[in-house]
Amino acid sequence: MIKKIDHIGIAVENLDESIEIFKEQLGLKLIEREEVLEQMVNVAKFRVGNVDIELLEPTSQDSPIAKYIEKKGAGIHHIAYEVDDLDKSIKNLIDKGLRMIDIKPRKGAGNKKIAFIHPKSTVRILTELCEEDK
Ligand code: ZN
Repeated sequence: MIKKIDHIGIAVENLDESIEIFKEQLGLKLIEREEVLEQMVNVAKFRVGNVDIELLEPTSQDSPIAKYIEKKGAGIHHIAYEVDDLDKSIKNLIDKGLRMIDIKPRKGAGNKKIAFIHPKSTVRILTELCEEDK
């Protein structure tokens, strides 16, 4: 079901300053920058091997990322795994008794379908499943 780690999401307060650190100081390659309206975030994506680092900056106080930063501060927000068939994976996890935040796929960054598993089901790590939207 899970193919690989797709990306690691990091909540940041200031995207431009964070890009500067990851690009200029760490020397990572910036491959994409976009606004994801549905999640009220600006996203900057860096490719490291075949895993992406996604920096997430809230665009509104109502953004889940804004609430996360307010509660826990900036830092690692979630880990995302790529799956073959998201609908099937969600059903499979629900059958196994895991608590899902999303019981239906929704639109994520980079033309992907995504769904989050509740951190209470995954040792308090917010976990995302994603599938390339073909
Ligand atoms: Zn993500």
